[in-house]
Amino acid sequence: MNNVEQTLSIIKPDAVERNLDNEIKQMFISKGFKIVQEKKIQIEKSEAEKFYKVHETKPFYNDLCSYLSSGPIVAMILEKENAVLANRDLMGATNPKDAAEGTIRKKYGISIDKNSVHGSDSLENARIEIEFFFKD
Ligand code: UDP
Ligand code: MG
Repeated sequence: MNNVEQTLSIIKPDAVERNLDNEIKQMFISKGFKIVQEKKIQIEKSEAEKFYKVHETKPFYNDLCSYLSSGPIVAMILEKENAVLANRDLMGATNPKDAAEGTIRKKYGISIDKNSVHGSDSLENARIEIEFFFKD
């Protein structure tokens, strides 16, 4: 009953470009997440490469890093009980085609690469990713 966590969420360029950031934020808020900090920024490709380093051997790595740095994004620290898992649930599957009803990716995702949101996949990565965007 008392496992409040913080996790990192990113509203990706495809969603910001379609002005979906407020609607997506409302989805988080209506599910009980508190948006502790947020910032709208555009990052350099070199920063995207650092952020997605775990994927550096994957065939989609280069396109992924180009994409994340292609336009403005909204990075947010979300807080809630079991926030890491709760955010992954609300995001839905990586491929919007496989995402469940009621999830952000089902509602807004365009394709596996333009899937509207990022979310930390573990508590440890949440700490690392929050530090990445909000260390100052
Ligand atoms: N991705 C892609 N092609 C793939 C798999 C992943 O373009 O075949 C992109 C997709 O945008 C995804 C990101 O790489 O969100 C990171 O992949 P991961 O497996 O960590 O998915 P996520 O944690 O975002 O659901
Ligand atoms: Mg991931």
